[in-house]
Amino acid sequence: MAVREELKTDQDLVLLVRRYQPSADLELLHRAFEFADRAHRGQFRESGVPYIQHPLAVAMILAELEMDLPTVVAALLHDVVEDTGVKLEDLRRHFDPEIALLVDGVTKLSQLESKSRVEQQAENLRKMFLAMAQDIRVILIKLADRLHNMRTLAFRPREKQKVTAQETLDIFAPLAHRLGISRIQWELEDLALRYLEPEAYRELVDLIPQKRQEREEYTKSFIDRLYKELARTGIKADIQGRAKHFYSIYRKLQGPPPRDISEIYDLIAIRVIVDTIKDCYAALGVVHSLWR
Ligand code: MN
Repeated sequence: MAVREELKTDQDLVLLVRRYQPSADLELLHRAFEFADRAHRGQFRESGVPYIQHPLAVAMILAELEMDLPTVVAALLHDVVEDTGVKLEDLRRHFDPEIALLVDGVTKLSQLESKSRVEQQAENLRKMFLAMAQDIRVILIKLADRLHNMRTLAFRPREKQKVTAQETLDIFAPLAHRLGISRIQWELEDLALRYLEPEAYRELVDLIPQKRQEREEYTKSFIDRLYKELARTGIKADIQGRAKHFYSIYRKLQGPPPRDISEIYDLIAIRVIVDTIKDCYAALGVVHSLWR
């Protein structure tokens, strides 16, 4: 479980950003990296790697989601005010006000989080998060931050793992869901399950691969068929499908007994993305005519 983190460089981030933003200001990206690297010098993650690996990983998560450049840059800088001697004014001097504002937002959320952890109900905390972050990109950085902390949770003490995993399930996964960032939501939930219910998680991991191939084939044929039908009606669409994640299967298994895994094998999710609202309703019509 305790796989060592692979060390990344700012070049890895640059490659990711260039893929969807060929004309991005790479000099700015590089400058932000150097700034954060200098600020965090001498600090280490609990895994033993230099601290800069964390903001770099957070920035890469956001670049994978094809977020705009200020978000990625702010992600590189997201811990410098909180964890180093750098002041907000320093950031304002070196970077655009937009970037300083994003970092400030993330810092304030972190403070709110640690202050109110005990007394706040999860629902209140989620609301406060949304209300406080006037810029939704602040929440996105916070979610990517949490995701990387969850990915590296194996290096933390056992008690911390449980607390962090529970909080992830109560606050961060629902936030990701509300914002429609399913990829982050699924991964957060699966990682949380792994630490909260290690046995159930392992059982699912063992159980599900047996049918994964079948599910993937089914998903593929489903998508092919829908593509053909949509093309016939002249709708241009992007269709994505996936086998559902462990946590959603786990939740279904918690339902009223007796339920066995084969019953729950409607476990694929399909997403159809079209250009206009009109196409959206037309696509929905096609889906309904194919599957009741
Ligand atoms: Mn962080």
